[in-house]
Amino acid sequence: MSKERLYLFDTTLRDGAQTNGVDFTLADKLAIAQMLDELGIDYVEGGYPGANPTDTELFGADRKLDTTFTAFGMTRRPGRSASNDPGLAALLEAKADAVCFVAKSWDYHVRVALETTEEENLASISDSVKAAKAKGREVLLDCEHFFDGYKANPKYALSCAKAAYDAGARWVVLCDTNGGTLPHEVEEIVAAVCKAIPGDHVGIHAHNDTEQAVANSFAAVRAGARQIQGTLNGLGERCGNANLVSIIPTLKLKKEFSDAFEIGISNAALKKLAHVSHALDERLNRGSNRHAPYVGESAFATKAGIHASAILKDPATYEHVAPGSVGNKRKVLVSEQAGKSNILAELERIGIKADKDDPRIGRLLEIVKERETAGYAYEAADASFEMLARRTLGTVPDFFDVEKFDVSVEHRINAVGQPVTVSMAVVKVKVGNDEMISAAEGNGPVNALDHALRKDLGKYQDYIKGLKLTDYRVRILNSGTEAVTRVLIESEDETGDHWTTIGVSPNIIDASFQALMDSIVYKLVKSGAPA
Ligand SMILES: [Zn+2]
Repeated sequence: MSKERLYLFDTTLRDGAQTNGVDFTLADKLAIAQMLDELGIDYVEGGYPGANPTDTELFGADRKLDTTFTAFGMTRRPGRSASNDPGLAALLEAKADAVCFVAKSWDYHVRVALETTEEENLASISDSVKAAKAKGREVLLDCEHFFDGYKANPKYALSCAKAAYDAGARWVVLCDTNGGTLPHEVEEIVAAVCKAIPGDHVGIHAHNDTEQAVANSFAAVRAGARQIQGTLNGLGERCGNANLVSIIPTLKLKKEFSDAFEIGISNAALKKLAHVSHALDERLNRGSNRHAPYVGESAFATKAGIHASAILKDPATYEHVAPGSVGNKRKVLVSEQAGKSNILAELERIGIKADKDDPRIGRLLEIVKERETAGYAYEAADASFEMLARRTLGTVPDFFDVEKFDVSVEHRINAVGQPVTVSMAVVKVKVGNDEMISAAEGNGPVNALDHALRKDLGKYQDYIKGLKLTDYRVRILNSGTEAVTRVLIESEDETGDHWTTIGVSPNIIDASFQALMDSIVYKLVKSGAPA
């Protein structure tokens, strides 16, 4: 029996950008779109061109993506023609493969919010869909408040959906905008819609206000819908949108869905899911939810005792799916054996040969555990992990020593009477028998320290010439009673390689210094600098 195709639509960059405290830059949006594309998501909604400068720039930028890159916007305004609406014109000019319109489908909203007639709203839907089709775009229509609208006036809600479908929309998406609809209601209403519009043209857009956005999405699929909209990690305003990171593995790994449906995500891409989820949190500079289904650090963690020993005999005894299938790891707490095999797997991944009976592996595991308790996150800083591993296994040359550094910050009034803050760093470095003192200014203390440190490393200077710091992230952690600072530094070199290093300390300068040092030493090792 051939499987039916089910489509995934990601709106992290549009609806997800509504999350309190989330503010994507253009670079963030491009990087996230790339990640979604590599995962195999069918549609990526980039944003609302014309509504804000970032989104306008995003839709102007060159993208090499296989996904159907989608622009979001309003249908034509009531009382205007499609050709005489600047908002619609801007949307149709955007470089996008598809256009997703949002329209009212609740008669009450049409009258009160839109202040127009039911007929004019239907005409606006139909005209807008036709205008975008004429521009060669694939068209989707988000029916806002569809479920509440349907409960109030089923005939009108359905006529909005039908107007879009009849005008040639590829998808009519039923939105639970307030997020209050329950799964059995979704199933009933979607089934009714699918009698009027074929299910392979119907999508579901669920919000998580009753913690059931994922369940509502599956209810809609059971009732006939064939497109699911959602976001990475369930990002979205209020309680968030349907979480694609939970939906995808369920579709791939649970028989009810995997037997019936084909999705655009390959088994190989599924193995990257945990990484994608954590990379998004890293970008948002926030901690990942340890208890997130499938991808959380604790999703496959078991405490010592009968469970742990049973898991070692046969993992299927206590795991609903294999952790590796989504790129996660089994974690048997306090089990030396499991810790060791995780470390060995990491070493293999970064290309360090190690013997599993080498006592230094046990030592490395101890250090990693101690440091992770102190706030280090090696999962996010592979170059620092590699340096730690190489040092513990005794293979990093002693390139140079920093004997002393001094950083000062001065706030004063300058010659023209303006307040200025100046940072300056002095570093004393020993390379072999040579001692070097370098001083530098910077736009902040860490920047000054970085300049001074990399100003003169004697015979190693040529090896670090191409080193650039591309990102610097700071997070204050509460470990025990005291707050500590975690610094992550992203570096790049002339070959285009990227790596991330980490430092943790109660002092932000010290934490930054550790991360800088790791990055420089990593670059020297990578370039094969002699001892
Ligand atoms: Zn929404």
